[in-house]
Amino acid sequence: MDEDHVVSKAMKACPRCFEQVHADAEICRYCRSRIANAKDGQYVRVRAKTGDKIYRGDLFVGKTERISDTINDTRRFIILSNAKEEGKLSDISIGFLALNKDSIESIRLSETDDGKGSNNVRQIY
Ligand SMILES: [Zn+2]
Repeated sequence: MDEDHVVSKAMKACPRCFEQVHADAEICRYCRSRIANAKDGQYVRVRAKTGDKIYRGDLFVGKTERISDTINDTRRFIILSNAKEEGKLSDISIGFLALNKDSIESIRLSETDDGKGSNNVRQIY
């Protein structure tokens, strides 16, 4: 499906106020908080299951953190950028998504964006 290959703008969500800011921004233009930059870590593709919905998106993991640190830290939400909701027929692009950790049943590393990377998926939460 073509929707699966739409490239999102280079934006990311501020981890504090969840507003969309430029991917290279170091200070949020809305709440003025410092934001992790790409050089401070990396984005990893994850697949999260919440109730009856499955989302895929890029989770920012700081340079000194492991993915499990990010998922299990004290923040109530995880932020996924370039997020998609998996639909029965095609995926729905969301852009960015703040997922309440309480609603997440499982979250797994996803090596690829097409759902075919399941051999590489491992349980991390
Ligand atoms: Zn902000």
